[in-house]
Amino acid sequence: MPIRQLSETMINQIAAGEVIERPASVVKELVENALDAGASKVEVVTSGGGLNLIRVTDDGSGIPEQELALAIARHCTSKLVEDIHDIRSLGFRGEALPSIGSVSRLSIRSRTASGDSAAEIGIEGGRVLPIRPAAANRGTTVEVRDLFFATPARLKFMKGERAESSAISDIVKRIAIAFPTVRFTLAGSDRTTLELPATEDSADGSLRRVAQVMGADFPDNSIAIDAMREGVHLTGHVSIPSFTRANALQQYAYVNGRPVRDKLIAGAIRGAFADVLPRDRHAVTVLFLTLHPAIVDVNVHPAKADVRFRDPGLVRGLIVGAIRQALADAGIRSATTGAA
Ligand code: ADP
Ligand code: MG
Repeated sequence: MPIRQLSETMINQIAAGEVIERPASVVKELVENALDAGASKVEVVTSGGGLNLIRVTDDGSGIPEQELALAIARHCTSKLVEDIHDIRSLGFRGEALPSIGSVSRLSIRSRTASGDSAAEIGIEGGRVLPIRPAAANRGTTVEVRDLFFATPARLKFMKGERAESSAISDIVKRIAIAFPTVRFTLAGSDRTTLELPATEDSADGSLRRVAQVMGADFPDNSIAIDAMREGVHLTGHVSIPSFTRANALQQYAYVNGRPVRDKLIAGAIRGAFADVLPRDRHAVTVLFLTLHPAIVDVNVHPAKADVRFRDPGLVRGLIVGAIRQALADAGIRSATTGAA
């Protein structure tokens, strides 16, 4: 067989296979796009655990009609980044929309502040539909129907509607904690609904957002963390040992404002609480790490939210030290030191 280039749709489906694991991955990409567009309100509607429908509406900048075709073209982005180590937007790869559009029926309806009408474009299993006029307020609505209809093998791997809905709710919460001044709503066909009113841009507002997500009793049952070591700043809140969960799902971590899931951070939290919590109980934590972008790589994988720190020992030591200190300052003694 001669060597030939893969088709555009095939290339996008391969990319989708890596980045779009499940409906929650679509929600993450669409919500991040809304935030990059400066939205102050983000509304998510799903049905069938996101497999039938995901619709994200924002009041952000909108996309000019003449750029709609580019928005769904591969490697096209308005977030041009000069330095891969200094990325200020959540997206920058220009891959999400073409990838999603290659495995679903996607439509984008958008209107800019200066545009006097809205326009809509569609893409179904990689096939681009013509642009047509539409009616909409300023902002963007992206609708994704029949996710994975074009890749039935992937569809077979989906868990039940409940599991997919709860993954969607978790990703919205995870992102919302980092954007307290944005209003988020989530409505599912099942009972997964979420309403997070905007809070003010302050430490207080940030804690109020955390309480919206973690429960109104979290502030009274948590202690503040604020520590700095060699240019790495750690802030946030951790629950006191009487306020725990049976799993570590409510441990949210952010690096330079991006949600991450990281073994090192999870391990440091476990280590910090090792003396005060039984092995099967987990603290509720929200931790923000701020450090120079040159000493952390948050772009290891587009979807996995891994991070790589240049000095992992420093970060681990900072987290363990800061939490232990905060617990001690709050008069919470470990089983071992308490007995001494
Ligand atoms: P990226 O976010 O990496 O740029 P995407 O494929 O997610 O790539 O989006 C492509 C482009 O489409 C974005 O760079 C942006 O210009 C535009 N876009 C997507 N979603 C929105 C939105 N909700 N509001 C405004 N522009 C958007
Ligand atoms: Mg994006």
